[in-house]
Amino acid sequence: MVGGGPHGLLHALALARAHIDVTLLDVRRPTPTATPRAMTFHWSMMKGLDELGILDDALARGLVHRIWSLNVLDGGERMFFDLDVLADDVEYPFTLHLPQESLSEIVVGRLQEMSNVHLAWDTRLTGLDQDDRGVTVRAASPDGDQVFRGGWVVGADGPKSAVRRAVGLGLPGITWPERFVAANVRYDFAALGYEVSAIQLDQRDGALVAQIDATGLWRYTYAENVTLPEETVGERMREVFGRVLPTGDEPEVQAWAAHRMHQRVADTFRVGRVLLLGDAAHVTNPTSGYGLAGGFFDSVSLVEALSAVVHDGASDEIVDRYSVVRRRVFTEITSPVSSDSKQLLWNSDGPGRLEAELERLRRATSTRDRQRQYLIVGCGLESPSLRSPSVTPQ
Ligand SMILES: Cc1cc2nc3c(=O)[nH]c(=O)nc-3n(C[C@H](O)[C@H](O)[C@H](O)COP(=O)(O)OP(=O)(O)OC[C@H]3O[C@@H](n4cnc5c(N)ncnc54)[C@H](O)[C@@H]3O)c2cc1C
Repeated sequence: MVGGGPHGLLHALALARAHIDVTLLDVRRPTPTATPRAMTFHWSMMKGLDELGILDDALARGLVHRIWSLNVLDGGERMFFDLDVLADDVEYPFTLHLPQESLSEIVVGRLQEMSNVHLAWDTRLTGLDQDDRGVTVRAASPDGDQVFRGGWVVGADGPKSAVRRAVGLGLPGITWPERFVAANVRYDFAALGYEVSAIQLDQRDGALVAQIDATGLWRYTYAENVTLPEETVGERMREVFGRVLPTGDEPEVQAWAAHRMHQRVADTFRVGRVLLLGDAAHVTNPTSGYGLAGGFFDSVSLVEALSAVVHDGASDEIVDRYSVVRRRVFTEITSPVSSDSKQLLWNSDGPGRLEAELERLRRATSTRDRQRQYLIVGCGLESPSLRSPSVTPQ
């Protein structure tokens, strides 16, 4: 494994539990950070986290929520989705808010106890070569140059993946003309009628608002045109809060981070014995919270494929299926759904468009059955077993 971000760590744990020996290298070591990072673990992942044996620990540290609100800034209208409408469809109809580094801490704790896992921190992949039987990875560490050899290499080393570049793949797609700004703030959004997870709808000030923890820390995520200077984000943030909060209220901004938004996917997730998963394979804007879930289900499929090859002597055609099937989930579900959400939140196409979207959402939230129809699309992030006859590799 190359990359010890959330996807690399979770994949290493899943492989090790499937009795496959793993060496994981990361140029850093997982350390707590105040910089805002991922925090929403989509409901579709809960069963998988339970199967990995880490759900209880994650729930103990995080915030669970079942209801999310849509708060229209102008006029104060509110709509709600209740995940309980999925109770007949999924075992765990709730979403978890937990800073990604807290999940990483739990997973690293488990990996350290496993005899078939070797963790190599402060170790940067610098190149790789492959032949019919395996892959040789070259890396640099404080102890000097290192060489690792394995049957397969999985690149979970993020959007700028060195693994992906080493096998000659790019990450084609689009970059949106806005940057998103994620701010951790101390402010009681609940007092304004926001659920633990909320979408603030407004022509100008659309935002994702989510409570991070029980101490009263919230995440406020908004967008601005990328041509505005990044050095002055802080000044404009004060103007944003001045517009959206009651007069005189000033949240304490603990930290913020600004990022570009993309819809991009590699042409294939497999080149010989080198595989890609998570953001190394595909990146999406964050508005649907599909970033972590997409990579998580890549991992579920890839563990199935590699177990079939390593333990059952299956043809490596199943690994091609992994690439085709998971790429298709990204292009047909993750990316279009996330793009729609992004346009809903951060597209100033004129008031007519927002009003039409609000009408659509009023209808979608109007009955439990319609809520279910709207939400159930998230089940499509998981793909069926790669051995299932319904899974066609084309
Ligand atoms: C502010 C923010 C908020 C977000 N919020 C959410 C959210 O709430 N929910 C959600 O689903 N998604 C969210 N996302 C998206 C989510 O963070 C990503 O999808 C996720 O982090 C991708 O994980 P990853 O493990 O694939 O890659 P990364 O997190 O990028 O990890 C890659 C790892 O590879 C290592 N690495 C890189 N190059 C090398 C090398 N050459 N050698 C060795 N190691 C290397 C890096 O050190 C890093 O640890 C958010 C993103 C941002 C920026």
